[in-house]
Amino acid sequence: MKKCLLCEQGFTPVISFAKIFSLKKYRELKICRHCQKQFQRLTGKQCAICSRMLDKGIICNDCERWKRIYQGDVLRNHALYRYDSTFHDLMVSYKRRGDYAMREILQELCYEFLVKNKYDYYVPVPTSPEHQQRRQFDTISAIYGDILPLTTVLIKKEGSHAQGEKNKEERLKTPQSFLVDKTINIRENKQTGKVLILDDIYTTGRTLYYARDCLKEVFPGMQIESFSICR
Ligand SMILES: [Zn+2]
Ligand SMILES: [Zn+2]
Repeated sequence: MKKCLLCEQGFTPVISFAKIFSLKKYRELKICRHCQKQFQRLTGKQCAICSRMLDKGIICNDCERWKRIYQGDVLRNHALYRYDSTFHDLMVSYKRRGDYAMREILQELCYEFLVKNKYDYYVPVPTSPEHQQRRQFDTISAIYGDILPLTTVLIKKEGSHAQGEKNKEERLKTPQSFLVDKTINIRENKQTGKVLILDDIYTTGRTLYYARDCLKEVFPGMQIESFSICR
């Protein structure tokens, strides 16, 4: 019997053999089936660029705008879940209240995708120095650092406000707040020719496009994509 990290009820993790063999490193489940079902997977018709669920068309309105701004050079974002109230509550516990254990639930939700899809470099979106100090950990690196080798080459400028505190208009008008850390030595690892930027939630795309702008000088000629647990 294990205790579910979310509802604290005891549960017996059910593991199929197929699942054990398909995953190189097997992770023990942290939440029960009931809680797992509360998170809504993105299903059906999705935006071909950012994974957002769509009623009609191929590309969502946000991506249409990025397509115009970046002259067609859009950022392919992979996302798995809808940002609904269940997710909102989880992120409040994790980010606002600084409940470090919640990262294990986030890891569970995206683990399978991340071990299946290979990239040469995984670059986490950094937390602002002020926020990191308040929580004592970097929220994005804490989620992905246990699963993937991270290349922490982006720095968030001091004094730049967190996107979570802004409305949509303000988010889009935010100036570039990332810098490249020139002291980081990037290990040679070119197999796929691809880089994956890691974030938790894709809201307008502003943060991830700025991250990509910076990474283009670090990884010239490589294909840069992004991953967010939610869209
Ligand atoms: Zn539960
Ligand atoms: Zn889109």
